[in-house]
Amino acid sequence: LYVEQPLGQGQSVPLTRDQAHYLFGVMRLAVKGQVALFNGRDGEWLAEVSEAGKRGGTLTCIEQTKPLQLPPDLWFLFAPIKKARTDFIVEKAAEMGAARILPVQTEFTNSERIRQDRLQAHAVEAAEQCGGTFVPEVADLQRLDRLLDAWPEDRQLMFCNEAEVGSALRLAANEKGRPWAILIGPEGGFSDQERARLTGLPFAHVVSLGPRILRADTAAVAALTMWQQALGD
Ligand code: SAM
Repeated sequence: LYVEQPLGQGQSVPLTRDQAHYLFGVMRLAVKGQVALFNGRDGEWLAEVSEAGKRGGTLTCIEQTKPLQLPPDLWFLFAPIKKARTDFIVEKAAEMGAARILPVQTEFTNSERIRQDRLQAHAVEAAEQCGGTFVPEVADLQRLDRLLDAWPEDRQLMFCNEAEVGSALRLAANEKGRPWAILIGPEGGFSDQERARLTGLPFAHVVSLGPRILRADTAAVAALTMWQQALGD
């Protein structure tokens, strides 16, 4: 179960109404029942129910069962598309171990805004489902050109470009330990101007995901898999 409070030996964790409903109503836990907790910072903790009520309750941390496991330093940049597909992309990026998820606005991105809180909740659920101890941060929507203007010096960029048929991810030996980012475009793809800028960046690795044009959500999973295969743990 994901909680926001700090976790540590003997720490008590008050439950929200929804958490109490889930633990006592759905999971049928009672006082002395045990549950694994994580908050994205302190690893996983075994906790015991010390108070159980309809509208709340309290857990007490017993022992740490997993240390915090940080994912590789991978940013996942994507242009938001329709709501359900954007949810899917965030969920899959979190499951596949992205450390930060950054929705970006490109020239052909249709959405002007996103529900950051909703996407962050999807990232939490994905981390819960894979038994992870880390939750990637989902950033608010920002313009791709501005993000590129302030790009961190050492971070490599895997630019997924459907026009680049046949270009695999070719890596020099020193690129493995570096911070990375993956970029997937919107349904309409990138503009010629964006494409020209992206292919000319010194830190960009232009990559094809095969001879067919994939939908953005499929491309997201394919790109994460390719990156993982070449550079992940
Ligand atoms: N420009 C396209 C069009 O309308 O014909 C489609 C863009 S595609 C649906 C969305 C994004 O997925 C692309 O911007 C790219 O980042 C990625 N993508 C899809 N297929 C790809 C491929 N075969 N190789 C590399 N990237 C791909």
